[in-house]
Amino acid sequence: MKVVKFGGSSLADSQHFQKVIDIIKADKSRKVVVTSAPGKRFSGDIKVTDLLISYANAVIAGNDYENIVKSIFDRYQEIGEAYSVPADVLTSIHDKLVALPNGKYANDDYLMDAFKAHGERLNAELMAACLTSQGITAKFVDPSTAGIIVTDDPGNASVEEKTYENLGRISLGSDVLVFPGFFGFTEKGDIATFARGGSDITGSILARGFHASLYENFTDVNSIYAANPNIVDDPMPIKKMTYREMRELSYAGFSVFNDEAIIPAIQGQVPINVKNTNNPTAEGTLIVPEENFEIKSPVTGITASNRFAALYLHRYLLNKQVGFTLKILQILAKYGVSYEHMPSGIDDLTIIFDKNQLDDKTIKAMCRDIQAAVQPDNLEWIDDYAIIMVVGEGMRARIGTIENIIRPLADHDIAVHMINQGASRISIMLGTQESDANEAIKQIYNHFFN
Ligand code: ASP
Repeated sequence: MKVVKFGGSSLADSQHFQKVIDIIKADKSRKVVVTSAPGKRFSGDIKVTDLLISYANAVIAGNDYENIVKSIFDRYQEIGEAYSVPADVLTSIHDKLVALPNGKYANDDYLMDAFKAHGERLNAELMAACLTSQGITAKFVDPSTAGIIVTDDPGNASVEEKTYENLGRISLGSDVLVFPGFFGFTEKGDIATFARGGSDITGSILARGFHASLYENFTDVNSIYAANPNIVDDPMPIKKMTYREMRELSYAGFSVFNDEAIIPAIQGQVPINVKNTNNPTAEGTLIVPEENFEIKSPVTGITASNRFAALYLHRYLLNKQVGFTLKILQILAKYGVSYEHMPSGIDDLTIIFDKNQLDDKTIKAMCRDIQAAVQPDNLEWIDDYAIIMVVGEGMRARIGTIENIIRPLADHDIAVHMINQGASRISIMLGTQESDANEAIKQIYNHFFN
């Protein structure tokens, strides 16, 4: 059987719903469907998830929210009416939306998550009704009934292992099961969502839980490309790649697939097929275990992300110091900050952070503590930082790839501040100034692909 997940743009309105219904109809093995919330219908439109966030914020602030509720309901109503779903389906969606402010929430973070989760929850109910009205018997499955248990970390929850036992108890019959993506329930019974884009994670969890033969992830592009099409003209489509190539690329900027979402599929060894709802017969990109991969080229993909910042420390004889890094790590732990990478030299250390978890106050306090604790000769916070990631299974067996990456940059006067070869030997990470990142991608791409 296959698990099929549809992203927000694939479920934005009734026309897109038709394409989704046709895709489900076309293959009887598509037994488990995962929905996102309705996404943008046109550029400038607002995703239902973002409308729900505004709704939650209005409730928290005690502001008026009637217009927001109307905008949200209109989205479901347009779809429901197009498929003539029974009246009580839309009434129930409306009632649930209106009742959200009356719920009991442990705190505002859980309130926010309960609101956000309803984008997918209501869309899955609607999808089950639309499928049924089109002759495919389908059942909505709530994550609480299915036992999708997640950590107490609203907005950034992770799945708990017992979810898989719970899913193992569900037997698949003739009905198509429709699950909402993006959220689960904590042990205490509160809704907690994954990070944004987290419906991909739900699809992957279900693919592992149901031992699917394939996890099809339907989005709005024909395939994943070797570089961002907004940076490189007409980049090469990637037909096949390994799990770990995808993980490294999505970590550093490939946004087609959520970077955490790959993990449950890897654990269950379920291949992933990223496909286009608007062109479902195109083969898309297949993401597979390393054993099923034949190396064809040195580099599979190149990406850049500017969500990073770096702390640079210099101290003579750093290599002789005992406990230097330990002291720094204790300070990071004190501020609840995780680091991404820590490349070092004999007298230097760079610590790279994900900026999303930091604010100015924390950065200042952290730097002050580090200055006091380890007394570096030089401490510099570098905000203007981009990480470029060049990824390919083909790099493992080949000598000299690094030269081919650096040469086009040197030829175009692009300074590289850091180079780090991943322990997996399938990626090379470069640190550059943010303003150089796009040009660097173009030059590296041209070198390897043109
Ligand atoms: N609707 C959620 C979001 O916009 C989750 C998802 O679409 O995957 O982030």
